[in-house]
Amino acid sequence: METLSVIVPCYNEEAVIAESYSRLKKVLDGITALQTEIIFINDGSKDHTAEMLSAIALADKQVKVLHFSRNFGHQPAVTAGIHYCTSDLAVIIDADLQDPPELIPELVARQKSEQANVVYCVREKRRGESFFKKISARIFYRSMNYLSEVDFPLDTGDFRLIDRQVMDEFKKFREKGKYIRGIISWIGFKQVPFVYQRQARFAGETKYPLSKMIQFASTAMLYFSKKPLKLATSLGFITVLIGIIYALYTLIGKIVGFTHALSGWSSLIILIIFFGGVQLLTVGVLGQYIGILFDEVKDRPEYIVDKKDNFQE
Ligand code: UDP
Ligand code: MG
Repeated sequence: METLSVIVPCYNEEAVIAESYSRLKKVLDGITALQTEIIFINDGSKDHTAEMLSAIALADKQVKVLHFSRNFGHQPAVTAGIHYCTSDLAVIIDADLQDPPELIPELVARQKSEQANVVYCVREKRRGESFFKKISARIFYRSMNYLSEVDFPLDTGDFRLIDRQVMDEFKKFREKGKYIRGIISWIGFKQVPFVYQRQARFAGETKYPLSKMIQFASTAMLYFSKKPLKLATSLGFITVLIGIIYALYTLIGKIVGFTHALSGWSSLIILIIFFGGVQLLTVGVLGQYIGILFDEVKDRPEYIVDKKDNFQE
């Protein structure tokens, strides 16, 4: 019999765990053609998420739990889920019920009918999210496509179904900063979209504050694109050009007599600030990539597992 795992990253989700588990359980009980399990990843939660998950695992052998030693982040949590998954199929889903678990059977059916390796879910609507979140997500997905060498499907989160072949390929990715939806697109094979409406969070609040959003977006861009480096070079060229034109202008102006050196104070300040800014900006871009090299060279683990429930050694 084919097997299916549902991978659920959880960080401080005590308000939603019980509901999330019961709705998932109901859906999975309805799938008789597959042998199913749930893998929860407790990403170093500071509330009662850990105890709640362990209690669920104790009562239900269909539930496995990985407890991280501290908070490593959403992407490392999903990565761990994929690494520890041994099933033929896996669905990645958030704990907060924004992605309805009731869609899982439809995803499986879609995968079977299309013979697809990936069924990725495209958000047609986003309910109950702030204007800022929606607009920043819109800009993010569009600029990612502009920057990167691969074409990513727009408005697609990590909610998706992947098969064994994709999981095996995913395991070969040694990079520490993982932008999972990007990597899965990059892997290729047959990927089909599934349009759905994203719901409001069931309870609790978002675990992605602005700082985490920025970190997530910069990992995505820097790991998938060298365009910022190219932009830095182009910026350098443009400013050199401006410099030459301005030099010629002053030189000719001196000869012909339409500029007076003494009146050049403000243009001097403007130029100093402008070139100073361009230099800092380009050095900053370089620094970002060097920072990534630094992190990758250290080769630290992406996450540390403290405790496992219901995993056989
Ligand atoms: N999450 C996590 N570690 C983190 C932040 C978030 O495992 O450091 C989980 C969180 O519990 C949820 C999922 O990632 O299941 C998505 O987070 P959230 O719903 O807060 O993000 P949003 O939907 O607001 O973008
Ligand atoms: Mg959410």
